[in-house]
Amino acid sequence: MRQIKKLLIANRGEIALRIHRACHEMGIKTVAVHSTADTDAMHVRLADEAICIGPPAATDSYLNIPNIISAAEISGADAIHPGYGFLSENARFADIVESHDLLFVGPKPEHIRTMGDKVEAKRTAGALGLPLVPGSDGAISDLDEAKALADRIGYPVIIKAASGGGGRGMKVCTSPDQLETLMQQAGTEAKAAFGDATVYMEKYLGNPRHIEFQVFGDGKGNAIHLGERDCSLQRRHQKVLEEAPSPIISAEERARMGGVVAKAMADMSYRGAGTIEFLWEDGEFYFIEMNTRLQVEHPVTEMITGIDLVREQIRVAEGHPLSVTQDKVQFRGHAIECRINAEDPRTFAPSPGLVKQFHAPGGMHVRVDSGLYAGYKVPPYYDSMIAKLIVYGNTREGCLARLRRALEEFVIEGMKTTIPLHQALLDDPEFQRGDYTIKWLEEWLARQA
Ligand code: ADP
Repeated sequence: MRQIKKLLIANRGEIALRIHRACHEMGIKTVAVHSTADTDAMHVRLADEAICIGPPAATDSYLNIPNIISAAEISGADAIHPGYGFLSENARFADIVESHDLLFVGPKPEHIRTMGDKVEAKRTAGALGLPLVPGSDGAISDLDEAKALADRIGYPVIIKAASGGGGRGMKVCTSPDQLETLMQQAGTEAKAAFGDATVYMEKYLGNPRHIEFQVFGDGKGNAIHLGERDCSLQRRHQKVLEEAPSPIISAEERARMGGVVAKAMADMSYRGAGTIEFLWEDGEFYFIEMNTRLQVEHPVTEMITGIDLVREQIRVAEGHPLSVTQDKVQFRGHAIECRINAEDPRTFAPSPGLVKQFHAPGGMHVRVDSGLYAGYKVPPYYDSMIAKLIVYGNTREGCLARLRRALEEFVIEGMKTTIPLHQALLDDPEFQRGDYTIKWLEEWLARQA
């Protein structure tokens, strides 16, 4: 057991703020690190100390391991929280943090490594008893083997990059004569984007939902699940709106599948927060990957369980047992998160700039996680997400009504945002019925054009 007194937040934006808030509620001092483009950022203003770690480009600042470690040493921090993105799933970073006698608020480096390689992750998930998308046992390079396999599982198939992420490096193949070209293209693109040409093959599911389970382990063989999130509303494989619980998962199914994933995490002695992602089609789950970090959409889980996931991450890193056992976890009501981006709501062209007016919605069960304030200039170098609006209701219907009301109140002037997109979505009867898959949003967008 080691108590954290000062924690360095190796991130920016709303998630840096989110981590700072949990720390201050726990009596932990915070150290913000920032690029020269983020000197005026809210997390920098709120943190107890702030250290500049480099120029705007992320590779020179938020991904600059030596500078981040130096900042931790100079400030006397005991721990580093990586947030999501940037270095959060970099096993080498986790190793380096621990070798400097700092606590890494995240999983064990070996688990980050295993799950970061999607071929290895699928193999591990299969061995732990999780249902997989039918496909290659491992990497695939031989064309004849690939053809034989595709014949066996049936077209269409999808070629995916072992080191892939962010929806990149995937090719859907509908017939044998395309296979050679698409395998080569996928390999070349994967090499360029991730420095690793390894690809594997999966059956391409026609119209699934994206359902993911939140898990938590204490690193000593105990683990729980905190239910699922439905993240099927995607554009270019990027999540746009998430909800918990999923409109199509029953309490029995949640308990059954949750039990399966929690047991898998217990068996691997997983530490901290994790997300097990599945595609779901015709009542069946198919594992696609595991994320060994906090997710953007974690607040919807917090809303329906009442558990502060960042606090829990910090406690586990300190060596405490999990604060709840599975039988104490209760799912109550419904929560939805809208990701609000500084983008044109129709063309999705980035729209960074000066925030002229900012007014966040409030009232019962409304949460806004954002680093924005009037007078702040959104820098063009990073992710376009500027705010998350998370709303709770006793029922899904009540949640939708409150979300509509909250979106109405939200004022962000000075740039285009995706608020109008969320408002239009809320008016759609199919969305209102929860009747959508991962294909739905892009088809809906095409209909609006
Ligand atoms: P990444 O790590 O790049 O996000 P994932 O494996 O998580 O890649 O897949 C991202 C998205 O791509 C999924 O949410 C889904 O929309 C689509 N996808 C991935 N694998 C398949 C598949 N086998 N069949 C159909 N769609 C898929």
